[in-house]
Amino acid sequence: MISDPDSKWMKYVNSLLDEIDPHVVKMHVLNAGYQAGFYGFSKTSEFAKEHSYRIPWIILMDPTSACNQHCKGCWSAEYGHKISLSYEDLDSIVTQGEELGIFFYMMTGGEPLIRKADIIRLAEKHNRSFFYAFTNGTLVDNAFCKEMKRLGNISLALSVEGFEEQNDFRRGEGCFNKDMKAMDLLKENGLVFGTSTICP
Ligand code: SF4
Repeated sequence: MISDPDSKWMKYVNSLLDEIDPHVVKMHVLNAGYQAGFYGFSKTSEFAKEHSYRIPWIILMDPTSACNQHCKGCWSAEYGHKISLSYEDLDSIVTQGEELGIFFYMMTGGEPLIRKADIIRLAEKHNRSFFYAFTNGTLVDNAFCKEMKRLGNISLALSVEGFEEQNDFRRGEGCFNKDMKAMDLLKENGLVFGTSTICP
């Protein structure tokens, strides 16, 4: 695999080294790799042995059920946008989680970036943890990318349904191009991001 420069993994490693900001790489390796994957996992396993119950290595939480979009068939668009966790509750969940050895926090919604100021605050305070948010991409702007770059411990997965026609059929006209613009901004800022998509 290493000797084949065209293998997808070598291309991935090379683009990580060439395109991602060094501080972002360092924080991803330390927080998502060492802290969550190694140290955290060892700590939660010790708890499991000591107390005979398992502790997860990851917590999934929704900062808000609110969303700025109305995609077809989504509960967030249909049930109203009234439920959000306060910053204090989010902070308490992460604080308690870290005490147990949980250093990976995944966020969905609603649209988590409606709370982007609180996500930045949370990632800054809990700088040994890693935060991963599933987003529709419409609220990604340059100021947010700069903050992600400064901290290095946040990564995003941008939702796409397919190419423009399929995506905008469900998500609304113009959404595909907004997603592409968000990806361009993330790339320009040397950030790590992925996509979230549904296989038919
Ligand atoms: S962007 Fe996501 S949360 Fe918002 S309405 Fe669409 S599918 Fe639902």
